[in-house]
Amino acid sequence: TNCKIIKEGQAEILVLEKNVFYNPVQEFNRDLSVAVLNLFAKEKHQELTDKENKKSSTIEKDEKENLQEQPESQNGIRILEALSATGLRSIRYAKEVPHVKQIIANDISEKAVESIKKNILHNKVENLITPSHEDATMVMYESRKNRFDAVDLDPYGCPSIFLDGAVQSVSNGGLLLVTATDMAVLAGNSPETCYVKYGAVSLKSKCCHEMALRILLQHISSHAGRYGRYIVPQLSISVDFYIRVFVRVYSGQIKCKNNTSNLGMIYQCKGCESMTTQPLGIKKGNAYRLPTGPPVDQICKYCKNHKHHIGGPIWLGQLHDKLFVQSLVDSIDDMKLGTQKRLEGVLNVVLEELDTPLYYALDRVMSIVRCDTPAMVKFRSALLNAGYQVSYSHANKISIKTDAPNDIIWDIVRAW
Ligand code: SAM
Repeated sequence: TNCKIIKEGQAEILVLEKNVFYNPVQEFNRDLSVAVLNLFAKEKHQELTDKENKKSSTIEKDEKENLQEQPESQNGIRILEALSATGLRSIRYAKEVPHVKQIIANDISEKAVESIKKNILHNKVENLITPSHEDATMVMYESRKNRFDAVDLDPYGCPSIFLDGAVQSVSNGGLLLVTATDMAVLAGNSPETCYVKYGAVSLKSKCCHEMALRILLQHISSHAGRYGRYIVPQLSISVDFYIRVFVRVYSGQIKCKNNTSNLGMIYQCKGCESMTTQPLGIKKGNAYRLPTGPPVDQICKYCKNHKHHIGGPIWLGQLHDKLFVQSLVDSIDDMKLGTQKRLEGVLNVVLEELDTPLYYALDRVMSIVRCDTPAMVKFRSALLNAGYQVSYSHANKISIKTDAPNDIIWDIVRAW
């Protein structure tokens, strides 16, 4: 009676006037997820075909381990939406993602599950979506022997309590999709709370959005490592007031050792805010070396005036798989998503992003030396002329992401 019908993508959902579960602001998140799953499902389909052909040829130990697991989905992928609310996301996956065999739309709230059931019927997707009324952690633990190709975690706030189950219930080479909305914690407002929730100390910085992504990836990777699994980020996005990461999870003890070289601490000068990252492990051939770093109370070598804050560990590896992102850009061309234009905009910036971790914000750097902010294009060409690469980060409009060392950046700033 008091129902409103809301259309998003190819789904229609019935929303009660006072329904707290539908958040229109997250349409971008859902569009992005539909696009990523669409590509993943196609790639997975292709991979399974290729794997079949490859089985007889000689293979490395790590890969052998991977192949021992039977592909868990011979004909289509299985998706778990662990925190489903209205079922909207699952319905969109059912209608907009190819090669789907089954989707479990789960929620702990009775009201939510009622609405999931209604929406499944309204959208006529009973053949693809199974509603489930359980604690998400239980669903995931119980699925460890019958894993999903994709597990989607979209909680209110912090996803931490779901990660242990999630990294175990996603198949080998499967996709884990994780949202975090507690940006204040991740962005340095409460470093202690961040350590409690994410196992890493956050720092206040202009690059806090990328730092948030790297803290979350570090956290997922450490959960995965406990079970001999490692992650390969496909796409890591910061928009509005949340972050969303898409990682593939693989089994392989040997590759897990790479984790230390993908992680690092970050030193940030209390005065000039120069940042230096320090990996936790350095890979040399097949061996790993323990790195040595500057003591935290050493005076900053750039401003020669202040000591450092220390944050982390953060993920220092790649945030995105650029080949995947390029295919994603190509594939959304004909998808007609509600937030298509914005999606294209963000993904094209992501494609250009340098792999160098973190970035500075031009206005902040100039205000530290009490100078007016020059035109971005001029600052960028100064770096290019000095022989370095520079790009934006999708997470900040005035970001300077560069492989130039800090002293070069400060030389350019001082010469302005
Ligand atoms: N994914 C939905 C979408 O895109 O429309 C929104 C999900 S909403 C942000 C989070 C949901 O998680 C709520 O519906 C809440 O009831 C559910 N939830 C919270 N804790 C849970 C748990 N332990 N197990 C299952 N569901 C849970």
